[in-house]
Amino acid sequence: MGTSNIKVPAVFLDRDGTVIFDKNYLSLPDQVKLYSYAADSINRLRAAGFKVIIVTNQSGVARGMFSEQDLQKIHERFVFLLKKAGAEIDAIYYCPHADEDSCNCRKPKPGMVLQGAKDFNIDLEKSYTVGDSIRDYLLGCNTGGKGILVLTGHGKKQQTKIAQEKIKPMAVCKTLKDAVSVIIKDAKKN
Ligand SMILES: [Mg+2]
Ligand SMILES: [Zn+2]
Repeated sequence: MGTSNIKVPAVFLDRDGTVIFDKNYLSLPDQVKLYSYAADSINRLRAAGFKVIIVTNQSGVARGMFSEQDLQKIHERFVFLLKKAGAEIDAIYYCPHADEDSCNCRKPKPGMVLQGAKDFNIDLEKSYTVGDSIRDYLLGCNTGGKGILVLTGHGKKQQTKIAQEKIKPMAVCKTLKDAVSVIIKDAKKN
């Protein structure tokens, strides 16, 4: 009876330096280490009615540093660790390309978010992106939502570069945990 037409908001989370510790070109499942607040942050978002979707640039694939099969194993480990910590995510999308491939999915290009929006009937205007790179918050802005920069991972380095960017993040937060509080508060206003 049309309830399937109801759109839901989502939070698109970066993986490395946001939900798990950033290892440069993480290539082995054993290297996956969740931030202590990762599972709880994801649960708070889902309890607030958001789909939680990971969107991650993995140009290590294009550079031949690891294969898509390796990436799959890494993501299995990631999902397992989250589950063990009591949390679940709705999906993971990754871009295996490098900048020079000119694909439509490497953040801040919208491809992964648009795919997620299609797969989960997402209301992009009520959605957010969170990550430790300028690319991550630009993604939210590029797809009609809002973007937040976190200062974990590479975030601190990126913070100084924001001054040169035309588009600013909706907020700069110490960690994902703080970003979740900002999102839940902001969503109540709309
Ligand atoms: Mg990152
Ligand atoms: Zn791509």
